[in-house]
Amino acid sequence: MFASSPFSELLHHATHWLGGYALALLMMAGGGALERRWPAELLQSRAGMRFNVVYAALYMAFAEAMRPLLAVISVALVNAFGGGWVVLASRGWGALASIVIVLLTFDLLEYAFHRLQHAWPVLWKLHSLHHSADEFNVTVTFRHHWFEVLIKGCLLYPVVGVLFKVEPWIVGVTAIIFMFGNYFAHMNLRIDLGRFTTWVNNPQYHRLHHSNRTEHFDHNFTQLLPLWDHLFGTLWVPSKHEWPATGLDDGAQPRSLLGALSWPLQTPARSVLPPPHTHSTHRLATRQTNNHSSHDEHA
Ligand SMILES: [Zn+2]
Ligand SMILES: [Zn+2]
Repeated sequence: MFASSPFSELLHHATHWLGGYALALLMMAGGGALERRWPAELLQSRAGMRFNVVYAALYMAFAEAMRPLLAVISVALVNAFGGGWVVLASRGWGALASIVIVLLTFDLLEYAFHRLQHAWPVLWKLHSLHHSADEFNVTVTFRHHWFEVLIKGCLLYPVVGVLFKVEPWIVGVTAIIFMFGNYFAHMNLRIDLGRFTTWVNNPQYHRLHHSNRTEHFDHNFTQLLPLWDHLFGTLWVPSKHEWPATGLDDGAQPRSLLGALSWPLQTPARSVLPPPHTHSTHRLATRQTNNHSSHDEHA
């Protein structure tokens, strides 16, 4: 039957990817317009942004290709653990409470996984691609290594399915909130939220997480709510004029799309070795091998 033919499957995935990528381009264009009006950092390179935009297409194509596999794995895991331990409401005020519960759960999981990405060498090898952007702007939003799609899809997100029996639209609403939050947090936008800076992730708060300055390392991990940084002692409240330079301390960057796709194989071993007898941060390990000249230049 045509409806289930490989061609129609391919067409379905291509359409889904195209829709997703068109939305990403729209969000980046909108974000870019705001960045040009109120930039935090002037004179960023268009070539760098183009690189991120093209890489995002590859990243999203891989995520789309993996969707059926991840769905099968998620269902298998949820079934194996007797999924849906807690039934969440989907009507009236109960639905609002469900959205808050799912959102907090996802955000806490993202926070925990992000801490691991900075603490475990093998995960840092992947995550350091995201941090290698020395120009921080909305196009960095999708600059994550493609393999992280598999790790998060197989190990992180199914946890929510195991914990909660919840209608898909509630998960959809939280996904939209995270999507907007993620674009917003990566913008090169000089916006001062005042005392609300530590209420929700934002361009200055997350820029500090991407900072190439030693004192900022291992802070502001949160994806959406700085609440977690508060609770687990990783909060750095940016001062009014604190808009640091970003990137890896040794300035390592992918030189091509192939370089980005194979990034973990290219990262020098010294960048992922934890320093002896110090705080377990691999960015610090890299820093120690390179002294402090590079970030002093950028600061
Ligand atoms: Zn990070
Ligand atoms: Zn980021």
